[in-house]
Amino acid sequence: MSAASKQLLCSLTADEVKTWVAAHGAPAFRASQILDWIYKKRIITPNLMSNLPPDLRLALSEDFICVSSVIESEVAAGDGTSKLLLRLRDGEAVEMVIIPAPDRMTFCLSTQVGCPVQCRFCASGADGLVRNLDAGEMVEQFFHGCAKIGGLPDNVVFMGIGEGLLNFGNLEKAIRLLCDSEYVGFGARRITVSTSGFVPGMRQLADLGRQVNLAVSLHAADDATRAALIPDKLRYPIREILDACEYYREKTGRMITFEYTLIDGINDKSGDAEKLAAIAKRMHAKVNLIPYNQTTADFHRPPDKVIRNFQAILERCDIQVTLRMEKGSKVSAACGQLRAKHASGEHSKQE
Ligand code: SAH
Ligand code: SF4
Repeated sequence: MSAASKQLLCSLTADEVKTWVAAHGAPAFRASQILDWIYKKRIITPNLMSNLPPDLRLALSEDFICVSSVIESEVAAGDGTSKLLLRLRDGEAVEMVIIPAPDRMTFCLSTQVGCPVQCRFCASGADGLVRNLDAGEMVEQFFHGCAKIGGLPDNVVFMGIGEGLLNFGNLEKAIRLLCDSEYVGFGARRITVSTSGFVPGMRQLADLGRQVNLAVSLHAADDATRAALIPDKLRYPIREILDACEYYREKTGRMITFEYTLIDGINDKSGDAEKLAAIAKRMHAKVNLIPYNQTTADFHRPPDKVIRNFQAILERCDIQVTLRMEKGSKVSAACGQLRAKHASGEHSKQE
């Protein structure tokens, strides 16, 4: 099998493992053992699969890509947040972030190398899409995180690099491998997919009927302001985004969260907060405010007073609002910053 056609070990379905085991003339129970190693024990190095015979371990390592990424660097912030830069097998890089909080541990996973949406304020989109991640590469990010913390996280957010809904097939498979009981068995309600408002993908995700949470990066309460932040090619009208949110709620029963990156002089006026409150109320949605983390000279974070005022207006309208703490701002926590730094040679290691 050529390297190009090989599949990642941690993207194999139960049927694929069973077929492979049968093709190697091994007894059927080997398939359960292999699945158990991969998805329950999170061991993807065949040599460590101690209850398998040596020939089967060797065959696994020959037929599949086992460990496909390495942690190239780990940047830790004082608050415990740490960001892993993962070097992929083709030399590309993505990030996964481990975010501890007193009551929960969250992993933030990437879905693409680069991003085709190219929001003007976001480091991930600066060079457009390089390639999609496959499902196994997303699961492997999760495994890297589990190895770091010595167990499972409480929550997983697909909020790293990329627009996951534009890589739907792979994202859907990664969610299946994480959630289904025959694989990792992680609760769908503990997973959140974040989207820039890619309407066809929001509807597709709703149609899966899974209990995953949807976070929509609204960033503006009117289309003209949104247009200043998100280029035309993949931006949908707010009206259509809200229709898709309603559809999502009907299909899944899950509440929507609006993410709102607060940018100085662009979307941080009291009037913006009032309009956002009206939308959130109508949609029964929560709001997550993210003060802009500077990645380009063109945009700035609003003064703290403005941020607090924005939050207070939403709260006065009884909107459930969280102001995302500056977790990891010291470690380039904004989407795609670490990868961008590496690409530009700002860190010591070059590509
Ligand atoms: N593509 C998806 C998920 C990845 S981006 C999406 O856009 O929702 C995840 C979140 O990070 C988005 O809400 C985005 O607006 C935010 N973000 C990106 N760059 C940022 C920055 N420099 N400062 C603050 N938030 C940022
Ligand atoms: Fe892509 Fe999200 Fe960054 Fe926009 S904010 S460029 S959609 S990763």
